Amino acid sequence: MTTLTSPRLALAFVFCLPMAAQTIGQPLPDWSPGTLDIHQINTGKGNSALFILPDGTSLLIDAGDGAHKPPRGTGPKPDGSRPAGEWIARYARHMLRHDASPAIDYAYLTHFHDDHMGGIAEVARHIPFRALIDRGWPSYDYPAPMPGLKPYRDFAEAQAGAGVKVQRLVPGRAGQIALKRAPRNYPNFEIRNIAANGEIWTGAGDNTRQHFPPIANLTRDGYPTENMCSLAIRLSYGKFDFFSGGDMPGARPDGSPIWNDVETPVAQAVGPVEAMILNHHGNRDSTNAFLLGALRPQVFLISVWTSNHPGEDVWARLISTRIYPGPRDIFATNMLEANRMVIGDSLNKLKSSQGHIVLRVAPGGESFHVIILDDSDEAFRVKAVHGPYQSR
Ligand SMILES: [Zn+2]
Repeated sequence: MTTLTSPRLALAFVFCLPMAAQTIGQPLPDWSPGTLDIHQINTGKGNSALFILPDGTSLLIDAGDGAHKPPRGTGPKPDGSRPAGEWIARYARHMLRHDASPAIDYAYLTHFHDDHMGGIAEVARHIPFRALIDRGWPSYDYPAPMPGLKPYRDFAEAQAGAGVKVQRLVPGRAGQIALKRAPRNYPNFEIRNIAANGEIWTGAGDNTRQHFPPIANLTRDGYPTENMCSLAIRLSYGKFDFFSGGDMPGARPDGSPIWNDVETPVAQAVGPVEAMILNHHGNRDSTNAFLLGALRPQVFLISVWTSNHPGEDVWARLISTRIYPGPRDIFATNMLEANRMVIGDSLNKLKSSQGHIVLRVAPGGESFHVIILDDSDEAFRVKAVHGPYQSR
């Protein structure tokens, strides 16, 4: 027995050395059990992130844009020969190739805007879903019926008919998105549902409160917007915490009701994290000082598809050590020259401005690296490695 186990232990130790296998110019080493991967995928078209949880369960947050070509937009990546949804599915199939039959265990849409949901049917054409989570199933009527959503509803109903578990995110709960393969091996892993449709976790138990006034008390032009209704979650793995909040706003225009700021009550519940993706791509209506001071991440991800991502005021808050002290590293999937011209030299503080961004969290969650992958082809070559960052 000893002769068998000792070399295996030694081998395991070698492979546990942080990032020993990461080599600039070489393909990203495969995910391995116990590791948590967060891949912010750059297709140049909308938002999409693939999570590979410690037991191999897969979660796709958003599905890129459809045919829509935004003005002042980023170009398609790797190129325009395939729609974004197909590139995302191909990315997922590659990163999940340890699995004999790769599938997305949970496909999750933060909200119903094209830059988040436009590619969902295309993704599903190329890799199967096991569950689909959104903010509207099955009635799709908050804050009002959504006639424009019919193609997506048809898609969701067809998925349900094919056996996919379609669900609405239930705010406050932990475990709606759960480890599917070996949960008992990772008792310190949790995904907590933070917000949906303005119903926000209080931070205690599974309790929530409705942040928006009753719809009956509002006029139609004062209804919560689609962005305000975004889903939010906090993922925890030991000391490592990550926040994802869709396009929720927090920096409201003068004169608008206080409840139009969704970030502040969300931030009160979430608390400090190691890393987050900027709400609303860092648009000027997002990422308020309270959120930054409460979450105080070491690492920010920015999903960019147009020249005002991030906004200039948001950028000033991100780098402000008055809001919270200490270092922080900022990574963008893309950065357009037009935005550099507006924001100026300080934008050069970005740690990366082109490529897929991979957070690779070591088993147990104690530390993590940020790895930038070349987005110009499907070789997934490492461009840069940052860290290790210690979880706090
Ligand atoms: Zn968006």
